[in-house]
Parts: sequence; structure tokens; C-alpha cells
Amino acid sequence: MPANVHILGGGLAGMSCAADLCKAGVKVRVLEAAPQVGGLAQSLKIGEFTVDLGPHRFHSNAQSINDHVLGALDGNVHHRERMSRIFLFKRFFYYPLRAGNVFRNLPPLILLRSFLDYWAMWFRQKVSPLPDDNFENYVRKRFGNTLARTFFSTYTEKAWQIPASQISPDWASQRITLLNLWDVVKKTLTRPRDVPRTYVSKFIYPKEGGVGSIAQGYRRIAEANGGTIVTGATVRHMRHAGGRVTAIGYERDGKLVEESIGADDRVVSTLPVNRLVEMLDPPAPRAVLDAARDLKHKAILFVYLMLDREQVTPDHWVYLPEKHLTVHRISEFKNFAESTCPKGKTLVCAEITCNEGDERWRMSDAELSAIATRDLASVGLFRAEEVIDSAVRKVPYSYPLYDLAYRKNLQTLLGHLRQLKNLVSTGRQGLFRYGNMDHSIAMGARVARTLATGQGPDHGEVATEDESFD
Ligand SMILES: Cc1cc2nc3c(=O)[nH]c(=O)nc-3n(C[C@H](O)[C@H](O)[C@H](O)COP(=O)(O)OP(=O)(O)OC[C@H]3O[C@@H](n4cnc5c(N)ncnc54)[C@H](O)[C@@H]3O)c2cc1C
Repeated sequence: MPANVHILGGGLAGMSCAADLCKAGVKVRVLEAAPQVGGLAQSLKIGEFTVDLGPHRFHSNAQSINDHVLGALDGNVHHRERMSRIFLFKRFFYYPLRAGNVFRNLPPLILLRSFLDYWAMWFRQKVSPLPDDNFENYVRKRFGNTLARTFFSTYTEKAWQIPASQISPDWASQRITLLNLWDVVKKTLTRPRDVPRTYVSKFIYPKEGGVGSIAQGYRRIAEANGGTIVTGATVRHMRHAGGRVTAIGYERDGKLVEESIGADDRVVSTLPVNRLVEMLDPPAPRAVLDAARDLKHKAILFVYLMLDREQVTPDHWVYLPEKHLTVHRISEFKNFAESTCPKGKTLVCAEITCNEGDERWRMSDAELSAIATRDLASVGLFRAEEVIDSAVRKVPYSYPLYDLAYRKNLQTLLGHLRQLKNLVSTGRQGLFRYGNMDHSIAMGARVARTLATGQGPDHGEVATEDESFD
């Protein structure tokens, strides 16, 4: 068992790891840059409203991970049924797709074109099959050109801001639950009342405090068992020598503090893997630093619009694929938990993707709120006069960008870090893996078990491309 474990980053991966290690009697210290723990799964109070960073539904196929979260929530939980749709042509389409709903709502010309394209692709596949070499081909091959563009490629290009042909097929294989159009029809027809199991899945959500209550629960467990959580501490450098991390430098209240890492200590990093490599002292070789620079994230601007009305939609979230709208998705936290909004009011969180530092990123809160209000009012979701207040949060490391070079760059970085024998890089950011909350929790728990007992399942196997993320 290590003498001390230094955990960098207090998101769900870092906090689940901290809670489990503390329960096992290991001395733990977490360094988190933000004022509170939770990372991407934190919640904020804005006036009387509680908001998350976009929609967060917790769901896991593993009972042990569900139990882990229920333990952290300690009774502050309720069960919900997922409702998410696509808003297109001023109509709602269920997502994942349901055949009857698609046939009823698509404009007749597009429906006809979808049908012809689907069969054209079917024949083409028999003669000269398209390779699964990028996102665009992946969905064209399975749904035909028109449906692929209408429901998948346009939205994906809007959210990622690069052509669908430049996105790795890993993204599609992990995120699109249904295999092809025929699968959509079959699943619709063979399940009772037109509702396939994968479409309406139950999830859990805290009754109070937003999704951030999960990480707060882990914090309570860690502290009750002797752990130390230092917030407002931004890790700046990591010294190493002889294949080991020897010291960590972090900035807190404008002062740089250096903590030395003892011979029997271990370091668990959940920081973005490319930023961690850039912090190494002595620095990594040029080729490794180039790979760190080329591994990219998408940032999200979360625009919160408080509304003087009871509800906008019954959905947890709604996708907006149309290109003329800047917003690509909205969520309504009231539908996750009533407690997130004061009586008679609701709040819509509009997401806009960008790159950290670009023109959108630099826009003022007022400009971003005006864009979101205009978009959502223009498609009739609410009236602009109903907006009573707004707020914006900018989050740089929201999505790992699965471009066609990401695997190679990632392997270079992880390969380099493997030389440091007392370091583990894990979590969504540490493994640059487009996982969900349950995956990060599972990674943290696996690392904790391995450190505390000397053996355990490999954290690197969580959320690999063989799993479907629903
Ligand atoms: C818009 C959106 C919607 C999502 N919806 C869902 C959903 O519905 N269901 C679901 O299961 N998952 C969802 N997710 C995914 C989920 O939020 C993440 O997978 C999970 O929270 C990641 O946890 P993590 O600890 O691995 O990483 P993070 O939460 O990113 O934690 C990393 C931590 O490191 C800290 N950090 C970074 N740099 C430094 C530094 N230099 N020094 C100190 N600390 C640092 C960060 O502040 C952060 O707290 C969603 C994600 C997004 C962006």
C-alpha cells in the first residue's frame, strides 16, 4: 500500500478514487483547480437556480458502479425516464430514432429521398463497400446519404466544427446505439408499444443539488476517512527523475507551492493528458510535445437562460441540428429535478461549441445570451420576452476531439508517461476518452483498488470502443 496518494483533479475520476482509497485507509491529498470538486459533473448555484454543465444523466450497466454512486448520494436520489428528442423542421423526433416517428414527421420529399438513398447504398455495399474509415462513411453506409446527413452528420459537424469526413469512426461506433436503419425499424416493431428498451432508459439523478451532489458525496466520504481536498489549487509542473515523479508544483492564492513525492508515494492524474505532458520537468522530447499540441479538445459555452414560464419541453435535452442555429443542444434541468428551479420558473441551458480562445470564446456573456435567445425564440421554443435573466460558463476541456490523428498522438503521450513508474493517468481527460460519468467513476475505483490491494481490474479497459455508450 502506498504511503500517500496525490490525486490531481477532483472530477468524478479523482473523487471516486479518493473516496475508495480513504475508505481503505490510504492517506490521500486531492489538488483541484476549481473552487469546488465535480469537474464536468459539477453543479453551480445561479440565483435561485441550480445548474449543471449541460445535461447529465447517470446510468451504468454495472451494479457495483450504481451502488458506488448510491453510496455517495446517501438517499438524495430519484429515478427518471430519459426523454430526449431532435428538433428539426419545427418538429420533434425521438432520439434514439423510432421508425414510426421518423416516417410520420419527415417532410414527404426527404422521406422519399431517404428511402431511395438507403436502397442505393444497400446495393452499393454489395458491389463496392464503403470503408468505416471516418464518421461520415460510417453513418452513410448504415443509414443512406439523406438520413445520415439529416440526423447524424449535420449535427456532428455543428458540434465538432470539422467535416464529418475528418472525424474518427470511433466516435460513431461509441455513440450511435442503433446499428443501421433496418435495426431502427426492427427494434421499433419488435418491442411492445413502439418503445424499444434502449430508447427509454431509466437513470438516476440527485433530488437536490444537481449532478454535482455525486462528487460532493465522494468528498464527504474522503474527508470523513481522513482525506484532504485542496480546491483552488492549479497544478503547474511535475518534476521527475529516475523514472519517478519527484515533486508537484501547484499555484494557490497566487503563490506557487511545491510538494515533494516520497519514495513510497503514488500520483494519480486526471488532468488532460496533453497538458500533463507539457508540465513535465525536465521537458518531454520535441516529438512528444508536438503530439501534446496536436491532441485537441472542443470547448463548450454554456448559456443559461432563466425563463418566466413553467416549462419549455418535457425533454431532458433536445438536439438542434439545423445549421442556421448556433446552439446545438438545449437541456432543461427542471425535468431532471424540480428542486433546481423556483416555483413557476424554468431554465434552459443552451450549448454552443467553440475552440478555447476563438471568436466565439471571446464573446461577452451578453452577446452569447442574445445569440441563444434569438436562436431558441426563432424556432418557437419560447418568446424572447420570457427571458428574465441569463448567465454563461465557458468550459475548455469539454470534449476530446476524435480527429483522424488522435489515436497516434494519444499513444505517443501515454507511452511517454508510462516511463514514470509512480504515476497513473486516468479518467476522461487522463485517457482522452469520450466516456460518461460511470466510466470515470469506474476508472477511479479501479485505480484505487489496484493501489490499495496491489491488484485489481485495469482502469484502461473502461470505456473502450467495444462498449456502446448509449
Ligand atoms: C456537456 C456534457 C454533457 C455530459 N452528459 C453526460 C451524461 O448525460 N451522462 C454521463 O454519464 N456523462 C456525461 N458527460 C460526461 C461526464 O461529465 C464526464 O465523463 C465526467 O464527469 C468526467 O470526469 P473526470 O473526473 O474523468 O474528468 P473531469 O470532470 O474533466 O475532471 C478533471 C478535473 O481536473 C481538474 N483540473 C484540470 N486541470 C487542472 C490543473 N492544472 N490543476 C488542478 N486541477 C485541474 C478540473 O478542474 C476537473 O475538476 C457529459 C459531459 C459534457 C461535457
